[in-house]
Amino acid sequence: MPPAIIVDIDETVLDNSAYQARLIASGGEFAPDTWNAWIEERKATGVPGAAAFLSAAAAKGVRVFYVSNRDLAQAEATRDNLARLGFPDVANLDTFYFRDPDRGWKEKSPRRAEVAKKHRVVLMFGDNLFDFVDKDHATLVERAALVREHAAWWARAGSCSRTRCTARGTTPFNYDRTKTPAQKQQLRLQSLDPAE
Ligand SMILES: [Mg+2]
Repeated sequence: MPPAIIVDIDETVLDNSAYQARLIASGGEFAPDTWNAWIEERKATGVPGAAAFLSAAAAKGVRVFYVSNRDLAQAEATRDNLARLGFPDVANLDTFYFRDPDRGWKEKSPRRAEVAKKHRVVLMFGDNLFDFVDKDHATLVERAALVREHAAWWARAGSCSRTRCTARGTTPFNYDRTKTPAQKQQLRLQSLDPAE
């Protein structure tokens, strides 16, 4: 079977720090409507190295599948965003395995299994445990157990990126513990880039 790589999208190949920055700046919280509006803007940047790595793999005949919990209705905007950044295998939506209740695609495992029917999955890449294994409403203890259970497997086919949404969005740049809370908040706000 031909080789394939499965990647998650958000904070694995696309960096949505600007959306997080807007939430901090506005004092808001994640909400489906603002998230959808952000996706429609197609302004996410690429996680450094992701497009180059996947393009190099694609050039060697490895197919890239995007297994994401973005909604199917967001596929076109997502494809445009990925294409602009030079990601491979985005010419059509055949490689997009988004959340799709009509196909029973709520969790990611059925979608990974679908890819594996016709491809040899050589690598999975994500920023969340559920980009590799599914378990509904897992507690921290259960998550830790899942990691241990698959210990031998991580080095073979899985690779976890650092979650980037906290890197620029919530890390207080120029952090100085002697500053007042208001001063720290000011530093956070100054470090934001909401791409507006
Ligand atoms: Mg993710």
